[in-house]
Amino acid sequence: MVSIFRPSDFHVHLREGPILNHSLNENLKHFQRILIMPNLSNPITNSKILLNYRNQIEEIGSNQMDILFTVYLNDDWSIKDLENSYQNNLFFAAKLYPKNATTNSTSGVGDIRKLSKHFEILEKNSIPLCLHGETIAPFDDPFEREKIFLNKELVWIQNNFPNIKITLEHITTKDAVDYVKENKNIGATITVHHLLENTNSFLGDLLKPELFCKPLIKNRSHQLSLQKAALSGNKKFFFGSDSAPHLSKKKFNSQCCAGVYSSKYGVSNLIEFFSSNNKLKVLDKFLSINGNGHYSLDFNKKKITYKKIKNFKFVSKTRCNQDYLIHYNHYNAFWLLNK
Ligand SMILES: [Zn+2]
Repeated sequence: MVSIFRPSDFHVHLREGPILNHSLNENLKHFQRILIMPNLSNPITNSKILLNYRNQIEEIGSNQMDILFTVYLNDDWSIKDLENSYQNNLFFAAKLYPKNATTNSTSGVGDIRKLSKHFEILEKNSIPLCLHGETIAPFDDPFEREKIFLNKELVWIQNNFPNIKITLEHITTKDAVDYVKENKNIGATITVHHLLENTNSFLGDLLKPELFCKPLIKNRSHQLSLQKAALSGNKKFFFGSDSAPHLSKKKFNSQCCAGVYSSKYGVSNLIEFFSSNNKLKVLDKFLSINGNGHYSLDFNKKKITYKKIKNFKFVSKTRCNQDYLIHYNHYNAFWLLNK
């Protein structure tokens, strides 16, 4: 048996339409709080789109879980609308995507220096900034984009807006781990699939489209740095699944979409990972304490228990809109939440 606080996931894509229904209901089973991402097919770049998305989610039902919204930062946002929306508690954090860095990021930012006025609003109102930390220059190697982003873009933001609280999302490299450790006012999310997979499992043998995501899964030595950071309990590192469902026809075709849908077995995989490393005592830090601490949020401290099930029959996919959503799972062991 393992007793933990009900987890928080500080980076989730719920999507829209039929997928939203599935992904939201899946998240309701596992988490007490989620921070959801704004890269809809029509990204959240004004208060009207934001309100519309909030309403869609409320209609499905979300009252047992705290849902925090992000907005999609680009120059479509008028400064006034951004500031008013925040002051009216319509969103919690702003998300910055470099243009075309990942799924639905064509409205992202080409040159972050052009967003100075928006950064000033974040700094003035203490709005957290969530970063997809990859560069987008055409000759930057996809495996190096995160590392290049640190020195080229992140340093610039931190030098010019030192008081913005930053989350470097879904980190994948030792370089990012070191940067976050060494700098002030910055924390980082780590996904379950970046912790448990590496380039060998992703493309060392047969290519696995279900593990294709941005930033790309990196090699074993980067993976070990992420594992060390998560298992250390260091308050700067916490869970953000980047769970990102796509219909299987969009994953298994000649132009595979980036995203790993891990909501269903993510918590079970993390319990097994911490347990097999004899680090269950720091699991609450990674799943609850550090992320909520980073964002200065209180959370429900009632413990819930999980028990390990042998020979569990995993569900690999869920029917959705005449197609399927494929679930990520790493281990043979399953940790079941006691009802
Ligand atoms: Zn994401």
